[in-house]
Amino acid sequence: MAFEMNAVVQHRMEVAPGLLVLRVSPVGWTLNEFLPGQFTTIGLPGSAARIERADAEETAADPDKLIRRAYSIASSSKEKQYLEFYIRLVHSGALSPRLFNLKVGDKLWVSPKITGMFTLSDVPDDKHILFFATGTGLAPYMSMLRTDLQCGKGRKYAVVHGAENSWDLGYQSELILIQRFCSDFTYMPIIDRPEREVTPWTGEVGFVNKLWEERYFEKKWELNLTPENSRVFLCGNPLMIKGMLEMLEKEGFTEHTRRNPGSIILEKFW
Ligand SMILES: Cc1cc2nc3c(=O)[nH]c(=O)nc-3n(C[C@H](O)[C@H](O)[C@H](O)COP(=O)(O)OP(=O)(O)OC[C@H]3O[C@@H](n4cnc5c(N)ncnc54)[C@H](O)[C@@H]3O)c2cc1C
Repeated sequence: MAFEMNAVVQHRMEVAPGLLVLRVSPVGWTLNEFLPGQFTTIGLPGSAARIERADAEETAADPDKLIRRAYSIASSSKEKQYLEFYIRLVHSGALSPRLFNLKVGDKLWVSPKITGMFTLSDVPDDKHILFFATGTGLAPYMSMLRTDLQCGKGRKYAVVHGAENSWDLGYQSELILIQRFCSDFTYMPIIDRPEREVTPWTGEVGFVNKLWEERYFEKKWELNLTPENSRVFLCGNPLMIKGMLEMLEKEGFTEHTRRNPGSIILEKFW
């Protein structure tokens, strides 16, 4: 094996079936500095066992080959002991079923290189920030909020988190707590399978796009959200990103790139 299993599982918690919070610590090296919102690559060899409830592989993986994928970091960049990831089980996937099978103390490979453009670094301090996520697309926002949330400075923040059901709303307690202590921060979970709820769901139903369409935050904050005063972050499912982009572009928002600064910052997971 040409790669070294250079990290260890320090904590794991399956917050709902198929949604894993995984903390990993480097073994014998120090985590590099990173910007909240960035990602790294983690991996396991094909010989690592898959969790039983995942689909069987059609073709057996090469036991000596490292299977690696990108994962956004959910922990604060101030945290130096571990990196936290929020991972969805893709039943037919190559790596995620192996990550789900990891126990505390198990080894894995983590790239020391942390990278990505999906950060707050190009966002001026006076802009309102709207974070839209589906599923584990919430991960980079958790890092940003845990590191950089500014309360009482006039800037508004929103997290819109879309999931199928209430039990899939990872980090809900932490986000509710932030909302309780920071009046500039609004958390809006929205689910699209309310018929499966155990007790009646009294929150928003539909897809995350709906909150923008209905001008929810403009009404709540009593202001107009424009490309001049706001930045919209989109992360997760490419279909959500496509739908949001179509709506936002009609209102003059444009995608941000290094060459062409804009008001939409996005990260597609696949
Ligand atoms: C920059 C970046 C950051 C990422 N961060 C995260 C993260 O924080 N958490 C996370 O769970 N995944 C994240 N991903 C996706 C991750 O890299 C893998 O693609 C995912 O875990 C599936 O890997 P796999 O080997 O199990 O499946 P593969 O065999 O690679 O199958 C890929 C397929 O799985 C599906 N898929 C991939 N990711 C997801 C997902 N998150 N939710 C639902 N379906 C998915 C898509 O249909 C995709 O075509 C990120 C991807 C990128 C590019």
